Amino acid sequence: MRKIFNFSAGPAVLPEVVLQQAREEMLDWHGSGMSVMEMSHRGKEFMTIAQQTEQDLRDLANIPDHYKVLFLQGGASGQFAMVPMNLLGNKKHADYVHTGQWSEKAIAEASSYCQVHIAASAEKSAFNSVPAIDQWQISQDTAYVHYTPNETIGGVEFQWTPDLSMIAGGSSDIPLVADMSSDFLSRPFDINKFGLIYAGAQKNVGPAGLVIVIVREDLLRIDPLSGTPTMYRYKTHAKNDSMYNTPPTYAIYIMGLVMRWLKQLGGLSAIEQRNLTKAKLIYDLIDASQFYRCPVVTPDRSRMNIPFTLVDAALDSIFLQQAEARGLIQLKGHRSVGGMRASIYNAMPVEGVQTLVTFMQEFEKNHA
Ligand SMILES: *Cc1c(COP(=O)(O)O)cnc(C)c1O
Repeated sequence: MRKIFNFSAGPAVLPEVVLQQAREEMLDWHGSGMSVMEMSHRGKEFMTIAQQTEQDLRDLANIPDHYKVLFLQGGASGQFAMVPMNLLGNKKHADYVHTGQWSEKAIAEASSYCQVHIAASAEKSAFNSVPAIDQWQISQDTAYVHYTPNETIGGVEFQWTPDLSMIAGGSSDIPLVADMSSDFLSRPFDINKFGLIYAGAQKNVGPAGLVIVIVREDLLRIDPLSGTPTMYRYKTHAKNDSMYNTPPTYAIYIMGLVMRWLKQLGGLSAIEQRNLTKAKLIYDLIDASQFYRCPVVTPDRSRMNIPFTLVDAALDSIFLQQAEARGLIQLKGHRSVGGMRASIYNAMPVEGVQTLVTFMQEFEKNHA
């Protein structure tokens, strides 16, 4: 058993059994005599690993055949550019929902390729909530609508999937695009409501270096903007089953082990229940206390990233020090917001959250 609980926002905690299995297979994967790191990506061993990983993901999230699963590099930040480069076609603008720092980065990047229309923004509420659907305004002839289901830094999460046919100016023909980096596979989702989703692996499903893209096949017929590098075209990777060049093989392998772990736990509904239990433990403590505060409105609070502050910011560094002495690490808030942030992704055990809550109660008793 490991002696610490890691609350890092990413790269983040991985299931202990996954790391143990990777250790056991490190020098010799299934009698091949090779580490996965040493395998040709086109050899039969690694092809098996990649295909099984994709199949397990498809099973877990019910991905139908007319969606392609791509294993790419360049992170979610790379997708901020790939999405407009590949989905604009001959349209001149795209709609974005502004809910915090990650959507802001997506907007800034897209602005290099098209006119960005802000369909809705939570700026007026200082990004402590998500904009209600009746406040969204979709522009005419938009290429797609992009939003960020979970804002990792602000701790704001959509508890609903937008239905574009219900929105002023919207229609179900407009592709909905989501940056699912920090809540991917933390709960069930219906891919049929999306044109494209992407997620960096290092929050919920594996190590850094891999980004997963799931894209509806008809969107692959759109011509990328002229000048789009071969590597930045979805078509390139879709045609070659993500083997156009060397994919991040070890990261795909670890993701495969995480998919197996999720299946054994009972799939996305089961992990969702566990994630709800964990988040409730922390939010209940915060709400019952005059000592801790969470800036996010209750219905839009993230189940993955929980930002909180102490009444007296002068206590922050003592809190972090004592937490660390208890093995509760990486609780410092994002450098731009301060305070604390507990990231409790899929792989954070309930026991880790219970230990944190007990520590927070004791700290309050000693310092309130
Ligand atoms: C972490 C994160 C990113 C950036 O991911 P990289 O892989 O570092 O590019 C983008 N969006 C969200 C929502 C994130 O949590």
